[in-house]
Amino acid sequence: MAVRSVRIFEEFEERTRRANVFSQTGWIKIGSAEMKAEMERNIERHRALGIEADFLSIEDLQKMIPGINPDGIGSALIEYKGGHADPTATTEGLAEVARSRGVEIVEGVAATDLEAAGGRITSVRTSEGTISTPVAVNAAGPWSPEIARWVGIDLPIEVTREQDLILETDDADLRPEYPVSNGLDRTYWRPDGRRLLAGDGHPKENEYVDANNYDSTHDASYELELMARLKHRIPRFADNARVVGGFAALYDVTPDWHPILGGVDGVDGYLNCVGWSGHGFKLGPAVGELMAEVIVDGAASSIDISMLGLDRFARGALLSSSYAGNQA
Ligand SMILES: Cc1cc2nc3c(=O)[nH]c(=O)nc-3n(C[C@H](O)[C@H](O)[C@H](O)COP(=O)(O)OP(=O)(O)OC[C@H]3O[C@@H](n4cnc5c(N)ncnc54)[C@H](O)[C@@H]3O)c2cc1C
Repeated sequence: MAVRSVRIFEEFEERTRRANVFSQTGWIKIGSAEMKAEMERNIERHRALGIEADFLSIEDLQKMIPGINPDGIGSALIEYKGGHADPTATTEGLAEVARSRGVEIVEGVAATDLEAAGGRITSVRTSEGTISTPVAVNAAGPWSPEIARWVGIDLPIEVTREQDLILETDDADLRPEYPVSNGLDRTYWRPDGRRLLAGDGHPKENEYVDANNYDSTHDASYELELMARLKHRIPRFADNARVVGGFAALYDVTPDWHPILGGVDGVDGYLNCVGWSGHGFKLGPAVGELMAEVIVDGAASSIDISMLGLDRFARGALLSSSYAGNQA
């Protein structure tokens, strides 16, 4: 799904007429010496899928991230086609194309119930009235378990609170150019215009919250602690940076940290598109195509998504991977 999504991001301007949405800088992962074997396995898997990825030496890393502290870095890789995208422009760009093809997008309206008869979806009730439909896609992220319960479906999803800081320096040249997942100090950062967005990586203690009642600001203690880790690893930037913002948002986490996609036995027309577990943005464009295939053709054809069904949890067929959340 990520490979397919990167191709869609590469064609984003052509498809949507929106320029500079995707910055294909490459994506860097940093780890300890113990993490090297797992990185090697991932590089092999990537190459088997036609994705270019390589180990980086400390010298490479120092050229790419000037001033990086090499202490403890025992492994690093780059995945060349990755990068970062502006989430608002991505969403708006895709929405505009959908509208131009006749899709009606209604904002600010809450779904309040799902109705089913004879084992299939018949309508969605909303705060603005009822819509008759044979298909309803539950894509409500952290709120998706609530919606699934309307038709008796139990989603094994928990909600975690995740904090990010927004950093700025007077000298924009100090800002690191590459998005980095730093498994060593459990941090990640990515450029955001002139700024840097930084957060806390796994493994860590998850903070489980109620999606309808959580603090969406960041904690003062989090700011101090994350800044200390950034100052240790990227002092050239972090020593000169000030925190100009921050927030807390939500992950919708499944037991294996992978999404739940597709239909459910007993409720025809109900489709899950949920449980993104903190890594759903990059997969979004491909997922849109897959859900369209399921709705129009009755099954996904471009990518096999059968292992992502809700039934995997009852069967004990959970997925495993080295995705950080999975290791927590
Ligand atoms: C701090 C942070 C960092 C992240 N970093 C990355 C990253 O680097 N890479 C990556 O790929 N992913 C990342 N993610 C994850 C990514 O943001 C999510 O996977 C993605 O946004 C999920 O999209 P979604 O559409 O499924 O859900 P959401 O974006 O949560 O959207 C769900 C929508 O449903 C609406 N809704 C809920 N209930 C109702 C209702 N009853 N009626 C109508 N509407 C309703 C909500 O208002 C909301 O707009 C990150 C997430 C966080 C929090």
